[in-house]
Amino acid sequence: MQTVDVLVVGAGLAGLHTARLLARRDLSVMVVDSRRSLSSGIRTTGIFVRRTLDDFDLPDHLLGPGVRDVLLYPPSRRAPVRLTSDRDEYRVADMAGVYGHARRAAEEAGARVVLGVRYIGASTGLVRFAGAEPVTARFVVGADGARSRVARDLGLDVNRRMLVGAEIVHPIASGTTDPAFHCVLDPRVAPGYLGWVIDDGRHAHVGVAGYPGGMRTGVRHLLDEFAADAPGRAAPAGPIERRGGPIPVGGVLRRLACPAGLLVGDAAGAVSPLTAGGLDPCLRMSELAAAVTAGYLRTGDQRILSRYDGGALRARFRGRLLLRRVFAGIRSPAAAEAAVALLRGRAGRRVAARVLFGDGSFPDVGPLLASPAIDHP
Ligand SMILES: Cc1cc2nc3c(=O)[nH]c(=O)nc-3n(C[C@H](O)[C@H](O)[C@H](O)COP(=O)(O)OP(=O)(O)OC[C@H]3O[C@@H](n4cnc5c(N)ncnc54)[C@H](O)[C@@H]3O)c2cc1C
Repeated sequence: MQTVDVLVVGAGLAGLHTARLLARRDLSVMVVDSRRSLSSGIRTTGIFVRRTLDDFDLPDHLLGPGVRDVLLYPPSRRAPVRLTSDRDEYRVADMAGVYGHARRAAEEAGARVVLGVRYIGASTGLVRFAGAEPVTARFVVGADGARSRVARDLGLDVNRRMLVGAEIVHPIASGTTDPAFHCVLDPRVAPGYLGWVIDDGRHAHVGVAGYPGGMRTGVRHLLDEFAADAPGRAAPAGPIERRGGPIPVGGVLRRLACPAGLLVGDAAGAVSPLTAGGLDPCLRMSELAAAVTAGYLRTGDQRILSRYDGGALRARFRGRLLLRRVFAGIRSPAAAEAAVALLRGRAGRRVAARVLFGDGSFPDVGPLLASPAIDHP
């Protein structure tokens, strides 16, 4: 039977980045994913924020043009509030390319990535799969998304508050749009969140997300309704791809690690509760996860695992968790019209610009990394 130091379940961005960082620390690392190809079953729009682009090495050729304009629409779609930044705030990535890049980086560091293999359970170091022989692992990293099975098997916290999101992606004729992020606050199609339209110059992304309890006709039906006349949408110039999945918005989970393993990315609830952005958090938390894992495996000292502290990150989320509650409370079109009207004023614009263009969507893990006990490469 094969033995590895670390078995990573899930080859999303969180799993691949953690695997790369662990392999760079000379640990033997295997990553499994039930997807047969990393270009299929994509569950994200792929909007990266400026802070992520500044801090992580995403290849430029995989990123669309910089977006500086955000238009916030009320349910009537009339007279959107336009916020313009003097810097590029967002870029939409070719996510199949980003996963391919992350996979190569993990493999170059020495990790083994095996696709088409579904994790079904782990106990006392033995990890079982559908579609492959079991392996023994000293440590399991659950990077298996919002409904993590690893979290349940390890007895760690699990996500309870989730939005469900869905989008269509299709090619557009080049030069037909100006880069802009169109956000529609309309509880009829996106209860508790937004409908959005954004493009990378070559593909348009049109999506909705909201609380499943408020989507009586189902997210797919609401998406089609929204897409029919979504503002800023260019006509399809090719086949339509569908994406979607759950988005945890209850904040980082408290109990994220135990001597048998830990959680990263969506499995850890590492998503900004307000913006529902999870790409920056999953990269940022992977740095801490890898340092803690390597330090623990090197020394066997369980106190190191307490550095991977969801409670500490959560405390810095308090304001955003509160705003999420306010957002969730906008239940009628009239309330949404009023909320957008508030954003027209100077104070409202300032708050909106802070949320949309600020750097605070996910706490910095730096202070938690600053410990001599954990492993620095
Ligand atoms: C519609 C939508 C749009 C979004 N858009 C954005 C955005 O534009 N910007 C942003 O910042 N965030 C966005 N998010 C959130 C963001 O995509 C996620 O937070 C982020 O991708 C999480 O990465 P991850 O690696 O933790 O999880 P995932 O990317 O979900 O990866 C988990 C992996 O685990 C695998 N897996 C699961 N169970 C098993 C198993 N039992 N065995 C083997 N493999 C398994 C899955 O196949 C998957 O590949 C969006 C989310 C949704 C749903």
